[in-house]
Parts: sequence; C-alpha cells; structure tokens
Amino acid sequence: APVVAVVGRPNVGKSTLVNRIIGRRQAVVEDVPGVTRDRVPYDAQWNGRRFTVVDTGGWEPDAKDRAAAIAAQAEIAVQTADVVIFVVDVTVGATDVDEAAVKMLRRSSKPVILVANKADNQNLEIEATSLWSLALGEPHPISALHGRGSGDLLDAILEAMPPAPPIIEGGPRGPRRVALVGRPNVGKSSLLNRLAKEERAVVDSVAGTTVDPVDSLVEMDGEVWQFVDTAGLRKRVNQASGTEYYASLRTAGAVEAAEVAVVLLDSSETISEQDQRVLTSVVEAGRALVIAFNKWDLVDEDRRYYLDKEIDRDLKRIPWAIRVNISAKTGRAVDKLAPALRRALAAWEQRVATGALNQWLTALTQATPHPVRGGRAPRVLFATQAGVAPPRFVLFTTGPLDAGYLRFVERKLREEFGYEGTPIEVSVRPRK
Ligand code: GDP
Repeated sequence: APVVAVVGRPNVGKSTLVNRIIGRRQAVVEDVPGVTRDRVPYDAQWNGRRFTVVDTGGWEPDAKDRAAAIAAQAEIAVQTADVVIFVVDVTVGATDVDEAAVKMLRRSSKPVILVANKADNQNLEIEATSLWSLALGEPHPISALHGRGSGDLLDAILEAMPPAPPIIEGGPRGPRRVALVGRPNVGKSSLLNRLAKEERAVVDSVAGTTVDPVDSLVEMDGEVWQFVDTAGLRKRVNQASGTEYYASLRTAGAVEAAEVAVVLLDSSETISEQDQRVLTSVVEAGRALVIAFNKWDLVDEDRRYYLDKEIDRDLKRIPWAIRVNISAKTGRAVDKLAPALRRALAAWEQRVATGALNQWLTALTQATPHPVRGGRAPRVLFATQAGVAPPRFVLFTTGPLDAGYLRFVERKLREEFGYEGTPIEVSVRPRK
C-alpha cells in the first residue's frame, strides 16, 4: 500500500488529523512529553483504496532545536513516503521553524499536500490562502477536530498517490486455478485420471465462467478446481514427445496461468535437477506451492530413510512448502490434496494488519538488532505489506541490511504470521 507521511510542528494537530484520516479505528497517542511516537504506521482506507499513514510526529516538545527536529522528521517522510502531508496551524500561520522542512520538501520530488489545520470557520478558511507563500501549492483548509474539509483532503491524497493496481478482490470469481506440474513420468496424468474418476464428475462448465478447452475442471472436496493446461496430460502425448525443453515450456505456461502449483515428485526416485527446476519455476513465478510426493506405495523403510535425507538437502531453500504423500495408483491420501491447496492459497492471499506487523517487528528488532557494521547498525524504521498473491513486504530502514539479517526477518515473519505454502518477498528501502 502507498505510504502517506504526516509532517508538522508540535501542536498543529497531526495526531488529530491522523485520527480523522483513519476514522478513529485505532487510537493515536497524543503528544506526551518524553514519549516518542516516532513513525507509527496506521492502516487507512478511502474510496476503496488502502494506504498506510505514518505519523512522523513525536519528538521532545522541549527539544532545544525544534527546527532541526522538524527537518529530520521531514527527511524521513521524504525518503519513505509516496505522499507527504505538511500540516500548518492556520491560527498561527507559517513560522520560521517550518522553513527548513518546507525547503527540503520543495526540493524533493515527492508530492506534498499542504494542510491548513484548525480552519474551524469560514474566516479561518480564508486565512488559509496566506499559506500560498510557502510555495507548496494550494493550501487545503480543514478542521481535523470537527471534520470540516477532510473529505476533500482525502480526495487530494488519493489523487497524489501512484496509480492503483487493478482490483481483483470482490465479486464472483471462477474456480481456483491449479497447475499440475512435474518432470515426465512422475504420475501427472495418472493423478488427473484418478481425481476425475474418484469425484464422479469431471465438470464441463461452471456457471458464469468460461473455461479454456485445454483446462480440466475437477471436483475435489466439494469444490470445483480448474487444472490449467492439462490437454497434453489428458491425451498423454507428453510422454512420447517429452523432451525436457518442451516439458519445461509447458511447465512455465501452466504455472503462469495458475494461482497454485502442485509439483509432483516421484518418491521412488532421487530428487533430480529437473525436479529442482520445476520447483524453482513455481517459486520464481510467485505462485503458492504444494509438493506431492507421488508413488508413495513404492516407498519402503529403506527408501524412506534416503528420501528424508534428500528432502533435508534438496528442499532446504523451501522449507515452507506444504507436502503431501500420495499414490495416484492406490488413491492413498489423494483427499489431502484439496485441503493442502486451500491452506497454501489462504497464505498466498493473507494480509497482515500494519499495526500487528509493526508491533511484532519492533519487538523482534529490539530483541535481535542488526549486527554492527563499520561502527553503525542499520535500524528498521517500519514495515508495510505492499501486496498479496504472493505476499510482498517493504522494510523502511536507515541503511542496507545484511542478507543474513534479512533472511532472519523473513523466517520470523513466516513463523509469526503462518506463511506456509507460499513464497513471500521482503524488500528493503534504505534511506540515503
Ligand atoms: P506423467 O508423465 O507425469 O503424466 O506420468 P504418468 O501418469 O504417465 O505415470 C508414469 C508411470 O508411473 C505410469 O506407468 C504410471 O502407471 C506410474 N504411476 C503413476 N502414479 C503412480 C503411483 O502412485 N504409484 C505407482 N506405483 N506408479 C504410479
């Protein structure tokens, strides 16, 4: 979600404004001497658009150098935000203290919205025009306390944001799209046949959706699933013409078209490089992932011993993948497939509330800070979830993070919020 930062001197009404923007769904701490409410992010929504509001306020109100404090605040805002809201108290007007911040904001390429707060009546609204002198564009007179003008302000904030990605959520959606992939002879067509037979009906159509003729609709566990690009499997042509090149093209296409992939492995054989490539293509495409160990009927105690070793060694980079042990031949545990797919898809689309995310992150980075590098340790300022399917997170930091530390944060994030069965992406935006 885009980040909107609120900047301004103490007492201009920043926390009241933040409360107004987030609709008081969460309580914003008031200015309390000695209490830092540095960079606290909140979830907000207007006209169906989600964004994150970062309250950059909260320095010592009796700080000796207020100009320096506000400049530092503006600097953080400029480096981390997509939109900056600069708040001035219209009953006081622009003061010298505002100047350092205004200069920096004007130099930055970030869109700045100038708010003239405490415009509780028409006279004060007119007074706001004097703020054109700050050269930050049109002043927006509002009363954060009474709500006057806040709708117009929210419209302006939305307009200043980067364009919204197309909205997919909501409304009726078709069946979940599944890619059934794996190297030749792992049992893909056997599994598809088994599923079609077991569940009586291979459905031909679902109301309100059009299904590509190369796809198969299969009912599993009371739900219709769309297995994409299975024409080759149904006709069993890929066996004869199964050169690795064409197999990998087919895999890439199916994975691209799907939301979740079932990667079939042959449990009776060593995990191969080709298996690894199939797994990699799913992770790199950012799709949810279920690994089905097929031909489990052939696994004896001996094989089990070596398979466990192979899993430890070869699947180490994807410990989060959901695994099921099945047999397309006997039908063993094939009913575990649908619940596994649902679990992976739920994680793939899971959104963590900004408040919960940052509470957890603050505790984590306090308990285990970044190691010191060249006399300094980069700090994580805050985080937002930038998207889902797959989940993407952005960490705003004071400097680049070690790859090891980033992996640590990612692992803990998975544990804390239950991200199982989906790749997640954690990127770092260091301030320069
Ligand atoms: P595909 O190339 O991935 O579609 O693999 P197929 O479905 O054509 O299966 C390849 C071979 O493995 C066939 O001889 C199947 O009968 C056999 N096979 C598939 N699944 C199983 C299983 O669960 N157990 C055993 N023992 N054999 C299987």
